[in-house]
Amino acid sequence: MSELILAVEDLTVSFDGFKAVDGLNFYVEKDELRVVIGPNGAGKTTLLDMICGKTKPTAGTIKFKYRDLAEMIEFQITRLGVGRKFQNPSVYEDLTVFENLEISYPQRRGLLGSLLFRRDDALLDKIDEVAGLIFLDEVLRHKAGQLSHGQKQWLEIGMLLMQDPELLLLDEPVAGMSAREREQTAQLLNGISKGRSIVVIEHDMAFVKLIAHKVTVLHQGKLLAEGSMDEVQADERVREVYLGH
Ligand code: ADP
Ligand code: MG
Repeated sequence: MSELILAVEDLTVSFDGFKAVDGLNFYVEKDELRVVIGPNGAGKTTLLDMICGKTKPTAGTIKFKYRDLAEMIEFQITRLGVGRKFQNPSVYEDLTVFENLEISYPQRRGLLGSLLFRRDDALLDKIDEVAGLIFLDEVLRHKAGQLSHGQKQWLEIGMLLMQDPELLLLDEPVAGMSAREREQTAQLLNGISKGRSIVVIEHDMAFVKLIAHKVTVLHQGKLLAEGSMDEVQADERVREVYLGH
């Protein structure tokens, strides 16, 4: 068996008595690309919120490389190597694509750091590499505000890649994208999944098929099914709560 990068056990969060995530076990291996599906309100976003430290669990443990994240705050979790992308792209519209990538580079922290910072070769190489991966190498000098919605989503993934996360959490990254952009995003994610683990929340089954190693189905905060795309699609319970709709 491969090594685990993430082990979530008995994870529960209760909002005024309502359990959005309820006794969940969830394991992700190194180099794995996992997709989490489930109907609206199943607890998918809340699960990512707890892994990245935005929401504190009521009970349970979240171990990333055997360290418990439940006790840490967001920036410590980021620094450990967990990158999170939220549903709506948040890029700096007035900065260029290049600048958005540049400010995401971890060595460039703090005012003094940025004053003394010289654009060394490592940074330029990194921007080059990432810009190619996210299909934006031709528009590095464009303002992010001029990009299409899909390109902004890619830029935000690129900003996370500048930090070389070992675990990347993506919440509905192809929402609002054209069919062509979805295919490109699948290609992007397949390209960057080597050497890191990725958890993607997604609804679009055609897209899920292109990327998923394994699929986890959540329903009412609980694990409903888990397995290959084919296994999950053949599962009666899954068809009932989700795929049938
Ligand atoms: P999904 O991403 O699967 O659509 P969410 O994780 O966003 O679902 O939400 C799961 C459930 O938890 C929903 O019923 C939602 O209304 C509820 N919920 C999420 N966050 C909060 C919160 N901060 N306070 C109260 N209820 C919440
Ligand atoms: Mg959600």
